[in-house]
Amino acid sequence: MTSSRRRPYTEQRPQDLGGGVWSVPVPIPGNPLGYTLVYAVESPRGPVLVDAGWNHPDAWEALRGGLGSLGIDVAGVRGVVVTHFHPDHAGLAGQVREVSGGWIAMHEADAALVRLMRGFSDGEQRGFQADMLRRAGAGPGEVNVATADRPRPPAQPDRELADGDLVDLPGRKLRAVHTPGHTPGHICLHLEDADRLFTGDHILPDITPHVGIYPFDRDDVDPLGDFLSSLDRVGELGPLDALPAHEWIFPDAGARAAAIRRHHEDKLDRLAALLSERAQPLTIWEVAAMMTWNRPWADLAPALRGMAAGEAAAHLRALEAQGRIRRVSGLDAVRFEAIES
Ligand SMILES: [Zn+2]
Repeated sequence: MTSSRRRPYTEQRPQDLGGGVWSVPVPIPGNPLGYTLVYAVESPRGPVLVDAGWNHPDAWEALRGGLGSLGIDVAGVRGVVVTHFHPDHAGLAGQVREVSGGWIAMHEADAALVRLMRGFSDGEQRGFQADMLRRAGAGPGEVNVATADRPRPPAQPDRELADGDLVDLPGRKLRAVHTPGHTPGHICLHLEDADRLFTGDHILPDITPHVGIYPFDRDDVDPLGDFLSSLDRVGELGPLDALPAHEWIFPDAGARAAAIRRHHEDKLDRLAALLSERAQPLTIWEVAAMMTWNRPWADLAPALRGMAAGEAAAHLRALEAQGRIRRVSGLDAVRFEAIES
């Protein structure tokens, strides 16, 4: 697909989108996504931010300066509502809270993950990752290098949101729509007085978000199944203008949601076919190595192989939940095989 609308961060500018909504591009240093679009929504008692950007001095300058160029003083921000806990969204929320004295709000499921991450030591994190990679069938070299450093966990929110809750935005209606998949507590935010939907990472105009499962061999959750239901959920909201956290603004969030659903259904069908062609059950790692990624498996850095394995695992788990494949638990690793009909 050609992406004529793709422009690097250096060509992005803060924008007045009308109706008391502004966007500020905030860079993500060293990341191919380039930037997070932070939105400000006006209220008589101070603007509320949707997401805050990556925690880095350059990003902070871009956020503070970008808001300033639109006439918004970061010290007057009423609160930050984050679409999900990932560092390119929640990273700077703590600094905004420090400067403004405002609140941070997040869905309760992601707030619980933040609590867990903040209680996890680096050593525990590495041990957890290494065990998970081994059970997925990764080789010893891959287990050692894939456990690199991680960004600092985000600030703990002051307020936890559930599906359908209104965000504290006086005089307007901004409602949390729980859209799990990319994270368990991902929310879209429906600005009901303006037919606009802040889509976070759930729906982006050109790329699709990472949907993985951690640990890889969990069988008590189905993040991809949740993600597909969350896409339907957006379709049911009617035709809304989409204000995503990356790339660019686009019309009709529901139409894009339907296209993303088809993309994953095709991927599931191909994966089911691949497993039924094999005589032996496969590990998650073996399956990931056979799937199509944006570059050949041999060229993927260890951390990206880990992401790919997480994504393969989420697809395997969805097929299992649909009754199309089953898992075979071995002593060393978990494996999957097709159920012949
Ligand atoms: Zn994300």
